[in-house]
Amino acid sequence: MPLGDEFEHIDRRFHDLTVPIAWVERHFDGCRWAEGPVWFADGGYVVWSDIPNERLLRWIPNHGVDVFRTGTEFTNGNTRDREGRLVSCQHGLRRVIRTEPDGSTTVIADSHKGKRLNSPNDVVVKSDGSVWFTDPNYGIMSNYEGYKAEMEQDGCYVYRVDPARGTIEIAVDDFVKPNGLAFSPDESILYIADSGVSHDPDGPHHIRAFDVGKDGSLSGGRVFAEINPGLPDGFRVDTDGNIWTSAGDGVHCYSSEGALLGKIRVPEMVANVTFGGPRRNRLFITATTSLYSVFVAATGAQRP
Ligand code: MG
Repeated sequence: MPLGDEFEHIDRRFHDLTVPIAWVERHFDGCRWAEGPVWFADGGYVVWSDIPNERLLRWIPNHGVDVFRTGTEFTNGNTRDREGRLVSCQHGLRRVIRTEPDGSTTVIADSHKGKRLNSPNDVVVKSDGSVWFTDPNYGIMSNYEGYKAEMEQDGCYVYRVDPARGTIEIAVDDFVKPNGLAFSPDESILYIADSGVSHDPDGPHHIRAFDVGKDGSLSGGRVFAEINPGLPDGFRVDTDGNIWTSAGDGVHCYSSEGALLGKIRVPEMVANVTFGGPRRNRLFITATTSLYSVFVAATGAQRP
């Protein structure tokens, strides 16, 4: 059932990225805080986190929703690595884990320089296998989406892990609350959200863009887009380099030059998005209590 008037066209280019006869569909509304959507192309379903309820849920098109995993230790962001293994951020155990094909889990990162991480929030895997994740302190600020605790790190950083060598290093150290992150289609740019405004009215609510060197080093870090209203939590990039990000009034779409092209209004606060479906042209949206989707005329860049 169409909600009506979901698309707001700000730039003519947004007409070519949306399907005028498509609409925003709600698939499930029983979450406390929905986050971390990830598409399983091989299974044909989307999995996402219900953080306070400590579970992962799954929606299978034309079938319905079931519980994918329980006891998730307040899992937040999810992605898959190049082998298709699920990679997840756990607030509760303050770590990033990988789920192996046999169902066992491997810890990718849980500390830096001998001190526990804050509460890994969102994660992306580069084509070379390196794992990049953000580590704000949201998951240790209360007992709602983690376990209240003091920070051991002296800041909220973005980390790069080489699982093959077992190394972890700080990639970026000048964020207030780093949150979502995604590479451009050719991986020459890493976009990272700072949602610092969540706990400071004067804090940042923008996405920054870093140039990625051949050795994985980052440079630059210009402010790519200020998100209003609300803040950028998670976002994804399409094959043309457009950024589809969460915002206070729905999903905002930006061109690779940083122009706001249009909005998709969603009736709840959006936390994250991911492209899915057999042709990666369906945008899945996790928003507060619900999982939504909308077909678009863009194709998600992220594989698998
Ligand atoms: Mg997040």
